[in-house]
Amino acid sequence: MANTINHPTMGVDEIIRPTRMEIDLKILSDNFNKIKKFVSPAKIMPILKANAYGHGLVRVAQLMQELKSDCIGVAVLEEGILLREQGITIPILVLGGIWGNQIPLFLKHDLTITASSIGKLNQIDEFALQMKTKAKVHLKIDTGMERIGVHYYTAEKFLGAAVKCTNIRIDGIYSHLANSELKDTSYTRIQLERFYDVLKFFEKHSIEMPLRHIANSGAILQMPEANLDMVRPGILLYGVYPSQEIPQTIKVHPALTWKSLVVYFKIIKAGHPVGYGLTWKPEHDIRAVTVPLGYGDGYLRSMSHKAEVLIRGKRYPVVGSISMDQIVVNIENDSAFNGDEVILIGRDGSAEITVEELADWAGTIPYEILTNINTRVPRVYLK
Ligand SMILES: *Cc1c(COP(=O)(O)O)cnc(C)c1O
Repeated sequence: MANTINHPTMGVDEIIRPTRMEIDLKILSDNFNKIKKFVSPAKIMPILKANAYGHGLVRVAQLMQELKSDCIGVAVLEEGILLREQGITIPILVLGGIWGNQIPLFLKHDLTITASSIGKLNQIDEFALQMKTKAKVHLKIDTGMERIGVHYYTAEKFLGAAVKCTNIRIDGIYSHLANSELKDTSYTRIQLERFYDVLKFFEKHSIEMPLRHIANSGAILQMPEANLDMVRPGILLYGVYPSQEIPQTIKVHPALTWKSLVVYFKIIKAGHPVGYGLTWKPEHDIRAVTVPLGYGDGYLRSMSHKAEVLIRGKRYPVVGSISMDQIVVNIENDSAFNGDEVILIGRDGSAEITVEELADWAGTIPYEILTNINTRVPRVYLK
């Protein structure tokens, strides 16, 4: 999955597939530093799940390590193991739920485990004893999302069990917010209140407070009181806002450009249909170009008849159904040549196509656009 930085056999620039994603590491660094400054003194756990929101898990993790990030978060065990194998040494929290048989792998690779039930705590404790090590754990509290975690209203028992596990080091305690990207912050406040209630346990029993964290990008932007000891920015790190309605209190910029090249030029005669299903035909003769990418790269088919691209700094519509590997662009009477750059996401002069636009065309959210850009698209890193 996520280990594709470039195609393994392609080292030479010239032979990297022209349909590519360019990631500007300077922009990514700036975004990181802006968020860090904004939330200081809270620590920061950049979230790198799903191939770092499409930006390439390993390279982004290396950058976070270079930038002295306190730690990083991923979704699944396999992402964590890959990062350890690639030489990432900073703490890595795996956010997802676990199965008992994964615990030895967590311990072997020094990955921090999310503990989300008493049963799982006991399994972790048991394996750590067997392997003569201390498991690093963050406790997960469900304050109103019903995915994983112990309900806030039964958490006291869970915490009581946790502090009794002698082979577990409780490094953190966290919860997750269900709709912090809305302008209406009332539910987020309720979740935060519930989390605070749970945390009283540590004061009540004079037990050292673990690292507390709950804020994702939405909360970071509009609810500083949710920063607690650490924040977990995902989409914001990559320069995309979690929603259109949220205040842009931190000015971040998209780090990625998705581009390709014109591979074919032709005239399409009036009435001659384009693509599978014959869903579109021009009313008069047009000039058109073919671009070698499609839904097999994550350029979602649901954007058919809506998507636009930039060629020579100008917007043009994608016509016909989006195929697996090719799209057709109507350039009307304009000129374009084989080898001309085509921007799918990003800037060309003063024109820009944003991830948010693609999300609108596809009827989805920016997160899904980013995480769907396939590993078939090589990632190229600009310094
Ligand atoms: C994905 C995720 C985040 C980051 O969310 P963004 O909205 O992208 O900032 C933070 N915490 C957890 C537990 C997550 O799963």
